[in-house]
Amino acid sequence: MMETKKAIDRLIDIIGRDKVFSDEGYLSAYSYDSTNIFLKPDVVVFPTCEGDVINILKTASEFSLPVVARGAGTSRSGGPLATRGGILISFTKMNRIKEIDRVNMCAVVEPGVVTSDLNEEAKRFGLYYPPDPSSFRVSTIGGNISHNAGGIHAVKYGVTKNYLLGMRVVLMDGSLVLLGGRVMKSVVGYDLMRLICGSEGTLAVITEATLRLIPRPECKALVVIPFEREYEWIETIQHILQSGVLPCSIEYMDSMCISANKRVSEYAIFNKQKIESIVFVELDGNRKSVEFEIEKIKGILNLNNRKDYLSSLDTSEIERFWDIRRDISPSLNSVGRYRIADDVSIPLSNLKPAMIELKDFAKENGYRIAVFGHAGDSNLHINYLFDSQSDMEQHFEKIMDRISEVVLRYNGSISGEHGIGILKRNYSEKELDANAIRLMKEIKKIFDPKGLLNPGKIFK
Ligand SMILES: Cc1cc2nc3c(=O)[nH]c(=O)nc-3n(C[C@H](O)[C@H](O)[C@H](O)COP(=O)(O)OP(=O)(O)OC[C@H]3O[C@@H](n4cnc5c(N)ncnc54)[C@H](O)[C@@H]3O)c2cc1C
Repeated sequence: MMETKKAIDRLIDIIGRDKVFSDEGYLSAYSYDSTNIFLKPDVVVFPTCEGDVINILKTASEFSLPVVARGAGTSRSGGPLATRGGILISFTKMNRIKEIDRVNMCAVVEPGVVTSDLNEEAKRFGLYYPPDPSSFRVSTIGGNISHNAGGIHAVKYGVTKNYLLGMRVVLMDGSLVLLGGRVMKSVVGYDLMRLICGSEGTLAVITEATLRLIPRPECKALVVIPFEREYEWIETIQHILQSGVLPCSIEYMDSMCISANKRVSEYAIFNKQKIESIVFVELDGNRKSVEFEIEKIKGILNLNNRKDYLSSLDTSEIERFWDIRRDISPSLNSVGRYRIADDVSIPLSNLKPAMIELKDFAKENGYRIAVFGHAGDSNLHINYLFDSQSDMEQHFEKIMDRISEVVLRYNGSISGEHGIGILKRNYSEKELDANAIRLMKEIKKIFDPKGLLNPGKIFK
């Protein structure tokens, strides 16, 4: 405790009293993320520049204090939680968009920039930053890079790592490392940038990122398809994906998500018969190509004997439909306030048997289950819902054991986009190859020999 006190005094001396907080209010406010786990740091710091970050890490290293970086705290896996106390670095004050480079089509940003703010700024230049986790209105670029965030447009545009051109990072000993630049192609040495991307803040602290932007698509269209039978949608999206049309988004919701979501009943298309699932297919590009692709999808739906679908090119109507998708997660609170929200990827060919097993498991045990997610890249969010935290905790291990067993047996991955963090650290070694685990642990030792950077994450 004495060492912590000395480290806090040192931090106040070096970066200033107005950036260092250790009173109870601050510690509690920074002890949570989107899981139901609460872990307090010993001190919260708010750097305003890269120099501050270097000084914070040098101090932490000298006093052997653990460090955890935090963006907006929307992680669903416990990523920004201080498992062993220590220093929590909040990046809320390093939130400048430093440059939009129109010619090279890229942006230079600090890690605390909110994802949607970058997109709004890019829009002013006719440009677009595609990675958009559903949390994009609050999540930060630093958090997105550390979790290699995906989003509803990943099926066409890929995930965060596909947009990384350059990065400035600080290692645990305070040394600054410059990676990449402003070019899309570079094969000089090992790709440390993409190693750090997705490493959940366990290898280095990001202080700046240069991100690729692309021209903004001129037009969007949405095809909304209700299904009366539970797993019919899988074959239909398989046909769409094989048709040569590449939608920018294919999102799915099951009957529990539909019945919990009050907005659904506002639309006539969903009231004609009992619906088991809904799929949204979004297309983008220039108007002619989008119109052509809508016709192609209509052809596929007709061949599949689907009559009750709707297509729209009207931006405000499309946005209203997307509100249904955005409302899924909050509306599930009415089914169960506490949830085990898993995030898995399963090959399309195995989706149906895997989902049947997971739903049967829920039925056998009397669990309420709701499934939705990014069907286009087979990344689904499986939610088991409970009325109380104790109920949820009591069933946590049994449910996580079963999900990981089923997902791995069907050649899937236990985390599509939310990361491992604390929540799934007991399961990462079940998915990874033994030699891959050995390499990963050795890499961690090279970056952070004392194991101080975001300890207790990814591995047991
Ligand atoms: C409603 C909801 C919807 C979501 N939808 C999606 C989705 O569609 N797709 C998706 O991928 N995720 C989704 N998520 C999960 C989450 O929003 C993402 O993982 C997001 O990228 C986290 O960003 P953040 O700024 O909140 O980071 P935090 O939660 O604060 O941190 C996440 C990780 O990043 C590390 N970190 C943060 N900043 C830095 C830095 N500067 N340097 C090094 N490490 C750092 C932290 O230590 C932690 O390990 C969703 C979450 C919620 C609550």
